Amino acid sequence: MTSFAPPDTWPLPYTPKPTGRVYCIGMNYRKHVAELGNAVPEKPVVFMKPADALVRPDRPIVFPRHGRELHHEVELVLVIGCYVPYRCTEEQAVHYIGGVGLGLDLTLRDVQAELRKKGLPWEAAKSFDGSITLGPTVPVREVGNLGALEFSCLVNGVVRQQGHTSDMIVSPAALVCAVAEVWDLNPGDLIYTGTPQGVGPLEVGDEVAVEAPWVGRTSWTVMPARQEREEDPYEDFWRSLPPGMPGIPARKRG
Ligand code: ZN
Repeated sequence: MTSFAPPDTWPLPYTPKPTGRVYCIGMNYRKHVAELGNAVPEKPVVFMKPADALVRPDRPIVFPRHGRELHHEVELVLVIGCYVPYRCTEEQAVHYIGGVGLGLDLTLRDVQAELRKKGLPWEAAKSFDGSITLGPTVPVREVGNLGALEFSCLVNGVVRQQGHTSDMIVSPAALVCAVAEVWDLNPGDLIYTGTPQGVGPLEVGDEVAVEAPWVGRTSWTVMPARQEREEDPYEDFWRSLPPGMPGIPARKRG
């Protein structure tokens, strides 16, 4: 197992690779499960978001154009620090977590309710562009016990969610094991570990912040929905290509 040990010189502050995968855990806090009117799941509920849906601290949250009820879900985010074997114990898995931070799992609750009613997948409610945020991350060795971390979510300065990792149904290490049973977990992959109670709507113009003593405070502003795509940043590149290139629409060549 020593080959899976985390590197001694963990980069500081750690920034995940933009190409890592993003796994999210649903219903990992009892009071949140209750506020949604669900039953506590037998095994962790795992869903994925595209890595390029991630909103960095210097970018705004853009209200999605296909829903009305955009909910904040503050979550402890694990940054996987090494190559993870398919089968591991929780004692081992705790060493595979390189860094932790706080982020938002943004959720279109109205769209999710509709999809759940029909028994359909959640992508449109959970995995839209800009559906995850992440603040700075810190090495695990600096924060200590992952089971003793408090964190909160504030909207316009008012506390909406207060969580403590000791309330998790499945611990961070056990979540790593659960994901690794199904997927190849690699350095730079992220696991959003579920949200505590207090989820609620965000409006255009709101400032939403995630905060904890061990990582500081990061905030994002909610911008109105975009009804048109932004200009294609590669327009000039497409135009520069010789005619006859396969897969390039004729109108792009000017
Ligand atoms: Zn969530």
